[in-house]
Order: sequence, then structure tokens, then C-alpha cells
Amino acid sequence: MFLIILIITYYKSRFDSHLKSFIEFNNNITVITTETEIVAMNKEGLSFFGFETVKDLRKKTKYLGKLFSEVVVEDTRYVEGINWVTKIKKKQKLIVQIPKGPLTQTFYMQVSKIKSDRYMVTFHNISQVVAEKETISQIAEKDALTQIYNRTKFNKILSSTLRNAQIYNTPFTIILLDIDHFKKVNDTYGHDTGDKVLIQVASIIKSLLRNQDTFARWGGEEFIILSESTTEADAYTLATRLRKAIESFSFEVIKTLTCSFGISHYENGDTSLSIIKKADNALYRAKKSGRNRVSR
Ligand code: GH3
Ligand code: MG
Ligand code: MG
Repeated sequence: MFLIILIITYYKSRFDSHLKSFIEFNNNITVITTETEIVAMNKEGLSFFGFETVKDLRKKTKYLGKLFSEVVVEDTRYVEGINWVTKIKKKQKLIVQIPKGPLTQTFYMQVSKIKSDRYMVTFHNISQVVAEKETISQIAEKDALTQIYNRTKFNKILSSTLRNAQIYNTPFTIILLDIDHFKKVNDTYGHDTGDKVLIQVASIIKSLLRNQDTFARWGGEEFIILSESTTEADAYTLATRLRKAIESFSFEVIKTLTCSFGISHYENGDTSLSIIKKADNALYRAKKSGRNRVSR
């Protein structure tokens, strides 16, 4: 009996030592673990986590799961228990966040069962790809000229605000504004001056809004603001403040400029389209009744 145990132990340790040599060939962080405890880690991994040997690592933790701050499986975020390896299905997409100094790095993780109670786990560093994706999505939501949100981003925020309003009955308002006689600016001073005016108008408005207000370029010389938790009276006060700020600002080259404003507020049964339409109708009335005014 003793001999059998000895033989099994011998073969087990031989197998582990083969695995240990094998994982050294992998350039990615590679770990051999049982359902719960780390058995081996290649040099790439040890140096990433700042350990000399697996023994040192095991003094800190025996559990692989303790090395990540977050695990994302098929878009679901959770932090795993110690026997998480057994729960991973074949071909499941696993993204893990691993703290490294003040930052966290993102890895694509693959788990393969080698034999009963031995799993090989590989980590492919995808931090750079994730950072690039983040930059691209930030570019995609901004207006290139004014650097404020574009219409697509605004519509996304409007949809989620509307959903909240429908569920919790929270008020919100929309202010749509359009530069008066902007065509004349272009015709008289040129398109470049027109562009500078657009940047300046965006900057004046931005400086007067709260952080929680959403401000976007709706298109051409039209801008749009969404203010959460505000009533129609609040929106009227804000729009009037903006109107006066633009009216009294001394613009480069063109000197004076005015804008017209249309406001609307969320009412039961509103859709994204209907609430914008109400603001657009109000803006039309502001233009019709002489410009440089706020209508509701
Ligand atoms: P209203 O008071 O009725 O709004 O008159 P308006 O001249 O402002 O309105 P209209 O719609 O006739 O003209 C808008 C002008 O805005 C026409 C277009 O060339 C100009 N425009 C739109 N986008 C840009 C832009 O990005 N840069 C510049 N410079 N001009 C733009
Ligand atoms: Mg217009
Ligand atoms: Mg205009």
C-alpha cells in the first residue's frame, strides 16, 4: 500500500515538474493550479507579480483568484471564490483585471483542464487594445470642432434619462438653441471666423452649466442642453442667463451675436422625439417673435 502511494506521488511530482518546464516556454503569464491552489507559475508571471519563486508567491496567497481585482465573464462582472477554475466553461470569454502598481492591467484569460485537478491558465495582456478602444469611443462621442458631445452621444444620454423619468417620475428639461443670422457671419467674415464663433459660443455656454448638465452640438449652429432634476421654470431661468451672457459677450471680429432658445420639459407619455419636437417648436416661436429670446 505504502509503495503504491509512493509510486503515485512520484508520478504526480514528475508530471508537475514536466508541466513546470513546459510553461516556461510560454511568453504569456502561465499558471498551473488545482481547483483551488497554485502549483506552478512561469517566470513571466512571477516577475509580473513581483516574486522570485512560487514558494514566495504561495506565502502571500495560494489562490489564483486573489491575484485579480475583477473578473468579467461574458460581460458579467464578479469576483470569484477560490474554486473559480472549476466553474469556467470551455471557450468562455474571460477578462480579468490585475492590479499592477497604481494601475490595473487587463488580461484575456484562458483555462484548460490538463487532467483531473490540474488546470493550465494563460493570461494575454490586452491593456493596450482596451486603452485604444477607450480612446476611439471617446473620439466617437465628441464633436470635432467644439469638443463637446455630438448628437449621437446626446441621444444616448437622452434615452437613459427618459427611461429614468418614466420609472421614477423625475423631471428633466431640454434647451435647444440656435445662433441668430449665423449665415450672415459666414457670408460677411468667412467660414473660419464662423467656426471660431461656434467654438466661442460652446465655451461660453459650457462655463455656465453645471457638471451634471449634458451639453452637445445638435448640428450646424444649433446646440442642445439636457438638465436633470429641473423644472420648466429652472430651464427658463438658465436659458435666460445663457441668452444674456451671449448677447453681452464681445466676440473677436464679429463683436456681437445673439441666440434664440426653445425649452421643453418631460411630461408623461413623452418620447425622445416628442420632447425634442416640443423644444424645436418653442425655438421656432422664439425665432418668429423676433429672435434673441427664450420661448417655451
Ligand atoms: P436664423 O436666425 O433663422 O437661425 O438664421 P441663420 O442664418 O442662423 O440660419 P440658417 O439655417 O439659414 O443658416 C445656418 C448657417 O450655419 C448655414 C451654415 O453654412 C452655417 N453652418 C453650419 N455648420 C457650420 C459650421 O460648422 N461652420 C460654419 N462656419 N458654419 C456653419
Ligand atoms: Mg439653424
Ligand atoms: Mg441660426
